[in-house]
Amino acid sequence: MKKFTIGLFLLIFLLVATGCKLMRDGAKKSLATGSPPNIIFLIGDGMGVPQISTAYYFGDGEANFSRFKHIGFHQSSDLTHKITDSAAGATAFSIGQKTFKRAIGVSGDSIPQETIMEYLQKEGYKTGLISLTTITHATPAAFYAHVVDRDMHEEIASQLVDARVDFIAGGGRKYFETREDGRNLFSQLIEMGYKLDTTQISEPNYESPNAYLLVDESMPSKIEGRGDFLPKATDYALDYFNRMGEPFFLMVEGSYIDWSGHAKNAEMLVEEVEDFDQTLGVALDFVDKNPNTLLIVTADHETGGVSISKKYLEQKIFGQRKEIPGEVEITFNSNQHSGELIPVFAYGLGADKFQGIYENKDIFHKIMSVYNRE
Ligand code: MG
Ligand code: ZN
Repeated sequence: MKKFTIGLFLLIFLLVATGCKLMRDGAKKSLATGSPPNIIFLIGDGMGVPQISTAYYFGDGEANFSRFKHIGFHQSSDLTHKITDSAAGATAFSIGQKTFKRAIGVSGDSIPQETIMEYLQKEGYKTGLISLTTITHATPAAFYAHVVDRDMHEEIASQLVDARVDFIAGGGRKYFETREDGRNLFSQLIEMGYKLDTTQISEPNYESPNAYLLVDESMPSKIEGRGDFLPKATDYALDYFNRMGEPFFLMVEGSYIDWSGHAKNAEMLVEEVEDFDQTLGVALDFVDKNPNTLLIVTADHETGGVSISKKYLEQKIFGQRKEIPGEVEITFNSNQHSGELIPVFAYGLGADKFQGIYENKDIFHKIMSVYNRE
């Protein structure tokens, strides 16, 4: 009887253990054989924790940031400067190496490196870039260009044409159309089959690549009347890729969170974060419907040394400053970038890999490990 009981236990144990192993192998297998994941990378330039906090004090309704469960931090310093800029900051994300300040898509010794977007494009991905600044500006440029200085806009523009990105939206028209070297890159884009729109964001042509280069320099800020360009362009891009039915890599930059820090403009900051949060909503909804997608949201660095601070009555009472208990205000301690740890939000496939504290360049490697189904 005793022997029988032990035997039965052993048998049950073996069955359960084998079952678990089979389930584990099954899960691994379905991950390994799944179709390549879509990757959406949202960069709120200059967006640290204080900037995100403004959505909770000044926004209406619950911020889309609350929908994330997987959150980490990255350390943003570059190879030469403790406090980085957008060029080295975005290049760390795009090539997986820290580089020197002002560098675009090159290593610390100025050697061009394949970016994550270029790599995925070779693997059959469709690609997209959306920015509020010129599309040749540091953040988007770091994904397709390779130059030693971020201000080489004409060179960067011609590298964008060579990059054959499928969906482009932003400013910077003059670097294509009225160039010092006399070349007209718009005619080149048209020859390559692009739908080119220089006036407004409109429904994409689903049969061709699309380029929206809407202003000579940068798009207006939200308080200057930009409207819903950023969420709308993101929505069009996602719809475009979805109809293409191919995996895609899309980078979207909310560029003016940084600029509001440089300008020490609290109203601009609140509006830009809200616009970015709406764009987040578009991306999060897409992932909910398309779970084979990884969404990462982060910044290159913080800008402005922003705080959510106590607000005081203007007039002193008995010589004392009087705090207003139900109000806060946004204060800036500089008009420059700062060195704080930067939050990273991840959603969808492989999101758990982005928890913890790591270097900015590790975001590249984490995306690659999701791509490789590791
Ligand atoms: Mg930028
Ligand atoms: Zn900046």
